[in-house]
Amino acid sequence: MDMTRWLIRAAGTCPDWPAVAHGTAVFQDFGTLANRAARFAGGLIAAGLKPGDRVMIAAANCPQYLEMLYGVWWAGCAAVPANAKLHGAELAFMIANSGTRVCFADAKLAGAIAAESPEGLERLIVVGTPDYDVLFAADPVGAHLAGPDEMAWLFYTSGTTGRPKGAMLSHRNLLAMTLAYLSDVDTTGPGDRILHAAPMSHGSGLYLMAHVARFGVNIVPESGGFEPDEIAQLTRHWRRTSMFAAPTMIKRMVASDAVIEPESLRTIIWGGAPMYVSDVKQALDRFGPVFAQIYGQGETPMTTTVLPKHIIADRSHPRWEERIGSAGHVNPVVSVQVFDEDDKPLPAGEIGEIVVRGETMMLGYWNNPEATAETLRGGWLHTGDVGSFDGDGFLTLRDRSKDMIISGGSNIYPREVEEVLLTHPGVREVSVIGRPHGDWGEVVVAYIVGEAGEEDLDALCLSKIARFKRPKHYMHVDELPKNNYGKILKTELRARDAERVRRGHHDGDDT
Ligand code: AMP
Repeated sequence: MDMTRWLIRAAGTCPDWPAVAHGTAVFQDFGTLANRAARFAGGLIAAGLKPGDRVMIAAANCPQYLEMLYGVWWAGCAAVPANAKLHGAELAFMIANSGTRVCFADAKLAGAIAAESPEGLERLIVVGTPDYDVLFAADPVGAHLAGPDEMAWLFYTSGTTGRPKGAMLSHRNLLAMTLAYLSDVDTTGPGDRILHAAPMSHGSGLYLMAHVARFGVNIVPESGGFEPDEIAQLTRHWRRTSMFAAPTMIKRMVASDAVIEPESLRTIIWGGAPMYVSDVKQALDRFGPVFAQIYGQGETPMTTTVLPKHIIADRSHPRWEERIGSAGHVNPVVSVQVFDEDDKPLPAGEIGEIVVRGETMMLGYWNNPEATAETLRGGWLHTGDVGSFDGDGFLTLRDRSKDMIISGGSNIYPREVEEVLLTHPGVREVSVIGRPHGDWGEVVVAYIVGEAGEEDLDALCLSKIARFKRPKHYMHVDELPKNNYGKILKTELRARDAERVRRGHHDGDDT
């Protein structure tokens, strides 16, 4: 089984059903999409590409994304989708690292890439130009029949620390991920729709296959990204729409004046970063029981645990609050364990590293046997995330091990302190870090976006969590450092904090 089979099936079964939409207009039906993919593959082969070669797609969300992705697979190549917000130098690194010879880019990124003259790149083709169109003049070729362990998607990790690594995802991985989506995340059926307001190079794009598998519509917004007003317009037009959204996007949707009708939404899936309990409650109040959560990482894409809609919606459950603050239960296609430092399984209630094994686990890191051996040791994917199971099988994520604070010999998980601070109406965003300290090892420092005052916040912490966990310093800032996916960069925040301490501005406002 490879990824093209579902498209071939849809093109045979319902060739004139809409497959891709651009804004409110149908862009392509399944018959056209399959035919274009077959021609595109013909064009790639004529250009000298062979099965297994890597082809980069460096573009903001666009309706051509599917014909490129499926065309790459049709030719037996592996796609290297790249985030459109990356810098030219970062894209050039990925091109050289992956050995990409042909890159498809939108006009903006093409300029940024060309300026870096990436090593090994033979052709840079701008999507939608005559150079691009000429590929489709080729005769359609038969789809390469990929083995389950051939690489389909080289997924560059978002690199919150160090250089990104390419996680090699096979057709088998994507198949299992898609079935897991259809089983527990969103039981998509014929004609259902997904709106790609988040990057198709990442989580949102990974969900497009489920909609091809189930004869649904992939909607690409005309803005190519996240605009609450456009989401309101498109969901009103298309109805029964699902979307993947990072927690920061959901917060913005909740706060926005855009008239997003709850009845036009089928499922909003959040993941990629923690969503705090108070934010989940606000989102439920605003949009109703449409939310599901996934926890995964590039190395086991979108698939480790899942918190399905019916559990998030069940307010009457005695442990509802605990559950919506968790990352859910184990996804049906993987095994998940919590390991101690010697890679021995820990019982429920004990905190350790989260490890995963199963059909979605990556083949390894591209050209990086050391990192592969370390991460996949013992046949388990070591996620680098820390957490614990409860007695019912719900996994609570703590923080990445390097984010844990050790103060006076006690472990403090920033998330726990952040959850408390966020219940204050004068706190819009927060990030808690450890600051090196001569006596304590580290002290807890809270970076706050919002007007809440120190006394109030201190009183709030004292009423909710152990004394030693409360921040010693509150730093008010206008914004927190984030990466291109909206994830808060604690490493960067710690570096800025160290700089502030060095300058003597270590207590209070950001001056
Ligand atoms: P990436 O490989 O870029 O998708 O990043 C994956 C990382 O994001 C995971 O290892 C977690 O640290 C974090 N993450 C993913 N999903 C969640 C979630 N639902 N809640 C909290 N953190 C998450």
